[in-house]
Amino acid sequence: MRPEDVSDVVVIGAGIVGCAIARALAGTHLSVTLVEARDDVGDGTSKANTALLHTGFDATPGTLESRLVARGYHLLGEYAEQTGIPVERTGAMLVAWTDEEADALPGLMVKAERNGYRDCDLVRSEEVYRRVPDLGLGALGGLGVPGESIICTWTTNLALATDAVARGARLLRGARVTGVQPGPEHTTLHTTAGDVRGRWIINAAGLGADHLDTEFGHRRFTVTPRRGELLVFDKLTRPMVPLIVLAVPSSRGKGVLVSPTIYGNVMVGPTSENLDDRTATGTSEHGFEFLVSKGRALMPALFEEEVTATYAGLRAAADHDDYLIDLDERLRYVLVGGIRSTGLTSGMAVAEYVSGLLARAGVAVDERDDLPPPPRMPNIGEAGLRPYQDADRVAADPEYGRIVCFCERVTAGEIRDAFGSLIPPADLDGLRRRTRVMNGRCQGFYCGAHTEALLEALLETGALR
Ligand SMILES: Cc1cc2nc3c(=O)[nH]c(=O)nc-3n(C[C@H](O)[C@H](O)[C@H](O)COP(=O)(O)OP(=O)(O)OC[C@H]3O[C@@H](n4cnc5c(N)ncnc54)[C@H](O)[C@@H]3O)c2cc1C
Repeated sequence: MRPEDVSDVVVIGAGIVGCAIARALAGTHLSVTLVEARDDVGDGTSKANTALLHTGFDATPGTLESRLVARGYHLLGEYAEQTGIPVERTGAMLVAWTDEEADALPGLMVKAERNGYRDCDLVRSEEVYRRVPDLGLGALGGLGVPGESIICTWTTNLALATDAVARGARLLRGARVTGVQPGPEHTTLHTTAGDVRGRWIINAAGLGADHLDTEFGHRRFTVTPRRGELLVFDKLTRPMVPLIVLAVPSSRGKGVLVSPTIYGNVMVGPTSENLDDRTATGTSEHGFEFLVSKGRALMPALFEEEVTATYAGLRAAADHDDYLIDLDERLRYVLVGGIRSTGLTSGMAVAEYVSGLLARAGVAVDERDDLPPPPRMPNIGEAGLRPYQDADRVAADPEYGRIVCFCERVTAGEIRDAFGSLIPPADLDGLRRRTRVMNGRCQGFYCGAHTEALLEALLETGALR
């Protein structure tokens, strides 16, 4: 496609939501361009969350969010099976620590049913401890939510983006939209990588969606970056946390959870703090102290082990208590805003909903019958077979037996493959999200230099573009 060409649809933002939309529309006869400000896909909120595949049991019944989370749960669950996105069906337990919280549990079960989720079970204190023996003292009872699951957010984002590109979407990275010029036939987006033109524009810019919305002349919402900080514990702790331990939600929010991670660790968090700065993804001393005091009460034994990492993500909270998805037919523009704390789960359902809006506006969105198969993603989940464990694979290609990162058991073969993939990483952080290299307890102290040397060697032999 030449730069002056006009795409049928331009999607702004290559997080999970934008990639899911681009993938869905690239599966039709429409030409699609996906523009992303950063140098990589999935480098915004979608890379730093708690990575739960939510059933939607605790959503506000009747909202669009409730509907799309429930639908997204099934869509992403099925897609994960097709593509190899790591998922573990751990289930969750909402634990009541006070009489007030215990009294709230039956109401939460009714709420889950109103959200279409009927598998919750109310359990006594003994059963809570049978399921989570290392829980701190004082649990009065719980609500089991067997469908809640853990998933790899990095692979989800990459799979959707890879699928979109394989279906023919054009991906422009490092292209921040700085201005919008609507016209009678198409809209021109001024980006840091040149102008991009589209008949329809879809704004899935997450934390930047409100600013872009004003470029289209709308003044309907403001994004507040709501920071969530998390602690990650050493892999030795994983057996202590067989399932996701949730707090009973209150007027102050969903509270702090303890969860296994798909990479074999345990995490505690997130905090919830409204900020002004949309780039403030650093962690803070007060956030750390808050999580230590909350987490220690939930599971004291956990805090005898080491915290190996901390991280933070910014929810795109909006002054609106539901998703804000709206099609402006006159401007041929769709806003996909307010996707705060459930967008990993709902992304594919949001894409389906946006396709439906376009269809109602007369855009042909019938699926093509010559689609390529979904991509098969490399497994970076701890529960599945990793390349270094696969004797046949190592025998066929010894690079899968050459470990570069000993904490996370990442091999030279996986690093080579990441750079040879349809969407190669733009930097070491992108490589980390694709392979887990430098993601371990040594923080890259041992493997960082090896990884860089390997990259240089691959560059010299011409194996990298
Ligand atoms: C702490 C925390 C915990 C969470 N836990 C969960 C969970 O357990 N389960 C769940 O389902 N969800 C969870 N979420 C929510 C989920 O992570 C988000 O809803 C989801 O990632 C939003 O995806 P997105 O594509 O809308 O946004 P993003 O991933 O932020 O993508 C938007 C993209 O747009 C780009 N962009 C912005 N402005 C421009 C511009 N002008 N030009 C071009 N590109 C632009 C950005 O660079 C970015 O890459 C959590 C979020 C946080 C912060």
